[in-house]
Amino acid sequence: MTDELRTRFAPSPTGPLHTGSARTALFNWLFARSRGGNFVLRIDDTDTARSEKRYEESILHDLTWLGLTLDEAPGTEGAYGPYRQSERCALYKEATAELLSKGLAYKCYCSKERLADARAELLKAGSPPRYDRRCSGLSPSEVPTGVNPVVRFKVPAGSVAFTDAVKGDITFQGFDISDFVIEASDGSVTYNFASAIDDALMRITHVIRGDDHLSNTPGQILVLKALGHTVPEYAHLPLIVGTGGRPLSKREMSASLATLREDGFLPEAVINALARLGWAPGDEGLLSLTEMARRFDLKKLSRSPSVFDTERLGGFNRAAIAAAPAEVFLPQVEAAFPVADSAWLVRAVTVVKSDASSVKDMIDMIAPLAGNLESDSGVAELLATLGSGSGEPLKALLAEIEGISEITEESAKSVLSAVKKETGLKGRSLFMPLRVGLTGVATGIELYRVMELLGREESIKRLQAALGSVGLE
Ligand code: GLU
Repeated sequence: MTDELRTRFAPSPTGPLHTGSARTALFNWLFARSRGGNFVLRIDDTDTARSEKRYEESILHDLTWLGLTLDEAPGTEGAYGPYRQSERCALYKEATAELLSKGLAYKCYCSKERLADARAELLKAGSPPRYDRRCSGLSPSEVPTGVNPVVRFKVPAGSVAFTDAVKGDITFQGFDISDFVIEASDGSVTYNFASAIDDALMRITHVIRGDDHLSNTPGQILVLKALGHTVPEYAHLPLIVGTGGRPLSKREMSASLATLREDGFLPEAVINALARLGWAPGDEGLLSLTEMARRFDLKKLSRSPSVFDTERLGGFNRAAIAAAPAEVFLPQVEAAFPVADSAWLVRAVTVVKSDASSVKDMIDMIAPLAGNLESDSGVAELLATLGSGSGEPLKALLAEIEGISEITEESAKSVLSAVKKETGLKGRSLFMPLRVGLTGVATGIELYRVMELLGREESIKRLQAALGSVGLE
């Protein structure tokens, strides 16, 4: 036996990783890291019809993207492998055989029709629809021939009580739990059973999962006790709802990590939004995984449903973008401006990222500054809408820029104040013509930044072209 803390994330590879499962993975990771423990990835692929390799791969990719490092996982040589349930069938068979030999499980030959009828009768009488144990204790002569049985676990009388780290003390009455099937008639293991066996054999000390699994817990505890295994601690995480307590919309619910990534969210932002689903780390700002692990406490998780707030996610994303080095975004930005110089793009990203919520925002802000202003860019029309006075500041700026050797932040600022003084204009009537003349559009980053990024030659060229387009060259 080991006394090291071990948590596991046990996704079924039947679809991409969604927000709720990613939160489960994160909390398991945080708890393990907060206590110097190990974090295990187990692939729950007992449902062979729905499990697909590509989903296992994408889940692994998403966990890596989020920064959730794995200590043991399929493909690693950890001490408690294999880590795919489909590769552990012999272990489940052994456990079933042991329960059968001890009389703690039995084979059931009842047909589907019989089970359905018995169930309907019990429900009609207002009783819990438990299996009536007709096949428990069949004598050899009563065993029907030609029927493949299922194996049922014999639920003992009494209650099952445990203290959930999130929900507190919980008691289930044994009477309410039917003798559940642990092996199907085709010999395959059922999920609930396999999962309990694996938690024990993998020495998992804490099972942290969504509260949709709460009803599986008493059965799993009973199986573990019947086999003489240590029962892990359980922590069932509350449901995730949308803002205002409404159920998550279809779009939010299906927000897979891949979608969030494609929408331009950074892993740091996603991690921070996920962490707030049921946990308040005591700091509203963007926290690193290490900092979160330092603060994490299973006992401080909320019992009420957690609100997935997409606006908050956006806020975290802006903060994460502002904090990240410009180089992080270069591959995507370079793809949008294939002919632009990389060093120039790094400078441009550095300037625009503090105002951006996504890489797309950055690209939109850089576009008017990259390359040539098309002659049909609409500068003339825009300038015309600004009135006849727009030529004066343009001329003044051109003369000022021609008078300096290089545009720096400092020289750009002093050139602009000189133009202001010279023309007596200020605010919109000063800056709008200059902006339109320099960029062809009416909105964007601050003007001195525009000039810095364009540089002296390009600024001159654009101002001359703008003046030309309104016949003022
Ligand atoms: N495989 C289960 C799921 O994807 C998780 C089971 C568990 O955590 O015990 O929902």
